[in-house]
Amino acid sequence: MSANEHWEVLGLGPDASQEEIKTAYRRLARENHPDRNPNDLDAAHRFRRAAEAYRALSSAFQTSDEPLAETKSEVLSELFGLARKMAKAKRGADTRFETSVSFLFAMKGGNITISVPIQEGCAHCAGSGVAEGSASYVCGGCKGTGKEAQARGFFSALKSCTECHGLGVIAKERCPTCNGDGCISRQCQLTITVPSGTKDGTRLRVPGRGQMGKYGGNNGDLYVVLKVREHPHIKRKGEELWVTVPVPFAVAVTGGVIPVPTIHGQTTVTIDSGTCSGTVYRLRGQGLNGHDQHVCIEIEVPKSVPDAVLTALHAYAELEKSHKVLRRTDAYLAQVEADSTA
Ligand SMILES: [Zn+2]
Ligand SMILES: [Zn+2]
Repeated sequence: MSANEHWEVLGLGPDASQEEIKTAYRRLARENHPDRNPNDLDAAHRFRRAAEAYRALSSAFQTSDEPLAETKSEVLSELFGLARKMAKAKRGADTRFETSVSFLFAMKGGNITISVPIQEGCAHCAGSGVAEGSASYVCGGCKGTGKEAQARGFFSALKSCTECHGLGVIAKERCPTCNGDGCISRQCQLTITVPSGTKDGTRLRVPGRGQMGKYGGNNGDLYVVLKVREHPHIKRKGEELWVTVPVPFAVAVTGGVIPVPTIHGQTTVTIDSGTCSGTVYRLRGQGLNGHDQHVCIEIEVPKSVPDAVLTALHAYAELEKSHKVLRRTDAYLAQVEADSTA
């Protein structure tokens, strides 16, 4: 645009004061702002031309008492300020953070401290994303409207311009601290309360700790996903707990006291003499919320034994035969014998 066109766009003559230029520009920017005139490309064009004319004519005042930098930054804040004010408040996205807890901790519940990246406004650019003293230009992608058409089948819809994020203007230089995002990520320690009886995959919501909102929008929420590590012995079935306890053969025959883990600490179970594999003892109230814990006995048969044990076992087998202590085995052998001679 020529200088004459600049004056024409603002509807002023070359003798206008800087104050008059500013007032005229502000009025045009307000009237033609894309958010006030959705889908009006003529208004967007007038908005862009007004900004161009204002910048050009304001910089002409650099030789006067007002320094150029001040004028420029005034244009910039004017453009950005207005665009921001008119831009729609945008809620920050929700974020997800995964952490794991032990089975016993998940059953009992308690506080954990996690270190998560949290977004906060960039202090260097006050959240604008613009480098200090940077000039700006009207976005070429959307011609200052902040919107762009998006094809959806036979129709097209308007969405926020991806180049300028809906602001209509782009800063020439981005803030070096936040790389133009207006916000930075910082590792933050958060204390989370894990409720007792938490299941694997439970999501705990921490309000407002997700991504930062834009243009006055609320922050998103942070979802902490809890992975519950398995316990090698205790398993959960609803509110009841099950534990399988290996017991030596000799203890199963004689009976005895065996240690049993519970979520409240270690306890003991007294097993009767002659206990079989698969026998279940019940610990009342030792499960979740007053439910029971079941203790399943599993007799361990050794894979290999030292010679001394082997010798003792042979002697034991002989005694077992002569004393006829295995009632079911003896009955079975007698039946096999009877069938073969029938
Ligand atoms: Zn744009
Ligand atoms: Zn910044």
